[in-house]
Amino acid sequence: MKQYANERIAALCAYVPGEQPRDMQYIKLNTNESPFPPSPRVAERISGEEAKLNLYPDPACTELVAAAAASIGVKPENLIFTNGSDELLNFAFLAFCDAGRGIAFPDITYGLYAVLCEMYGIPYLKIPVGRDFSINPQDFCGVGRNVVIANPNAPTGLCLPVSDIEMIVRCNPGRVVIVDEAYVAFGGESCVGLVRKYDNLLVARTFSKSHSLAGARLGMGIGSPELIGYLNKVKYSFNPYSINRLTMLAGLAAFEDENYYTENCKKIITTRERVKAELRALGFSVTDSKANFLFARSDKIGGRELYEKLRRRGVLVRHFDAPGISDYNRITIGSESQMEAFLAALLEIIN
Ligand SMILES: *Cc1c(COP(=O)(O)O)cnc(C)c1O
Repeated sequence: MKQYANERIAALCAYVPGEQPRDMQYIKLNTNESPFPPSPRVAERISGEEAKLNLYPDPACTELVAAAAASIGVKPENLIFTNGSDELLNFAFLAFCDAGRGIAFPDITYGLYAVLCEMYGIPYLKIPVGRDFSINPQDFCGVGRNVVIANPNAPTGLCLPVSDIEMIVRCNPGRVVIVDEAYVAFGGESCVGLVRKYDNLLVARTFSKSHSLAGARLGMGIGSPELIGYLNKVKYSFNPYSINRLTMLAGLAAFEDENYYTENCKKIITTRERVKAELRALGFSVTDSKANFLFARSDKIGGRELYEKLRRRGVLVRHFDAPGISDYNRITIGSESQMEAFLAALLEIIN
């Protein structure tokens, strides 16, 4: 039998992203995008003088790094920009893990972590979360490997306080602890302040969710100069131009209009709390999510069935056919009117 791929790629089960269907207009509550357009500054920037698509972009992302350093209160040496935070995660797994340097993460979390381990041949340990999906920080001490934790976690939305993250970072000296803060802007606590104190902490951020730039692909890593140095080694060897000029300008514009995004996040949080209360009133169990989504189940209807019935009514949510969570659906918080349509469809289904 002919097989072109190496054994690892031949055996790999690729990550399956949320559907982006083209057959009709859905109310899209399945991939945690923002319902709000990017700031008007983004359109101004990308149609301006600096777009210059005939020239390569600045591989060091100098202006973006300067804007981020000022905004977050870290030094330029603490920062790296990537093509989405998925690319940062790729670089981090490549740089800090291998067959002899494994990694641990919660058994219920972002599915990409396990796929990256399979792809790169990294041994991984899945640490069980509690029955209520809570993460016990003690479980991550003394595991003898690197650690990655999404905080708030996906798809539960639960978050750990910075003191717990600090404990995990302290009890793993000589190991890299990656904290994936994709959803931190929706009510979580950021641990970015710990970067100055610990050289083994890497914080991953994305502009996809809170900054309405899922389509532009922009992610950011914040860590010690030592960790950022290794990540740059990988970046320059992989694709030094992974941030294109338009995305760079869109990112710069995002830093120029932070109030706009803060206000949008506030709106999402308000809507989330309202929809959470409505779902609970309808008898759903809903986790206490601090992200831009809710994670909910009902005794009245199975997870898969609810997903399918909503889909038939033009509402897309995310269902995971995975052990422990197949009764649930993850519902992205959209605009008020999108959530009204979701609740109306839901009422029709359960009555
Ligand atoms: C969405 C998401 C990402 C990826 O974000 P991109 O920047 O769009 O690649 C990373 N981690 C978690 C936990 C996410 O939910």
